[in-house]
Amino acid sequence: MHTYTTKAIILRSIPYQESDRLIVSFTEDFGKLTLLARGIQKSESRLAPYFIPTFRPSVSFIFGKQFPVVIDAGGNDGTSAAGLSWIRLTHAYALARIIDTILPESGKDEALYFILEASFRLFYNRQYISPHYEYNWSSFLLGRTVLAVTVTLGHKPDLSHCIICRKVSRGSDRVFSISGGGIVHRECVTPSMQTLVLLTPNIKCALENSLCATRIPRTFHKDEARVFRDICCRFLFYMTGKVPDESFFRQLCYT
Ligand SMILES: [Zn+2]
Repeated sequence: MHTYTTKAIILRSIPYQESDRLIVSFTEDFGKLTLLARGIQKSESRLAPYFIPTFRPSVSFIFGKQFPVVIDAGGNDGTSAAGLSWIRLTHAYALARIIDTILPESGKDEALYFILEASFRLFYNRQYISPHYEYNWSSFLLGRTVLAVTVTLGHKPDLSHCIICRKVSRGSDRVFSISGGGIVHRECVTPSMQTLVLLTPNIKCALENSLCATRIPRTFHKDEARVFRDICCRFLFYMTGKVPDESFFRQLCYT
């Protein structure tokens, strides 16, 4: 059976059967690909450190009955995250999750791969950024990547008018809706809208926007929802010093 090797960006990792995981990835040569990684829920698994969302390993696989099956992996592994701020890792993780949600099953796409590879590489760039700017820097990177992917997918976001009320939209009290294809005032967002933050230089508004706009998709696995909750919790605590209560999370979840 032929073995294929390609660079991959890991977007999501879903527990599957007893000790396996399904790895949703965006690969250089095959586009979006869901790989079966056998045995990587076991602690002794040699491959586990490569299949963490946001990592960019090179992956060898064969086409199996149901899913392509991972044979080997190399390159970028778990140690590359050591020492990076949680702000950055959180934004990178959120980006992986958002990209998985908005990216359709697709074939090879060089432009998309280029954008995503460059963006995740920047997240792991060790160049020193003052802690004061770390949040702005990484949230800006996240916002810009989402926007670039949206445009590459063929959407033409209108960034000057609210897509609901059509009024000129300025300032930071607004979010970016993928499904709506443009900017929405926060008060104009409808519950069915898949909204994403448009990150602004203003930390407080960016924070509020991202927390209000980043809803947990229904398809979230329980483990991932917990991680996501934890991330939001940390954001809020870090920025405001307050721990969010249950009503905040009810508002955050669809279900
Ligand atoms: Zn509006």
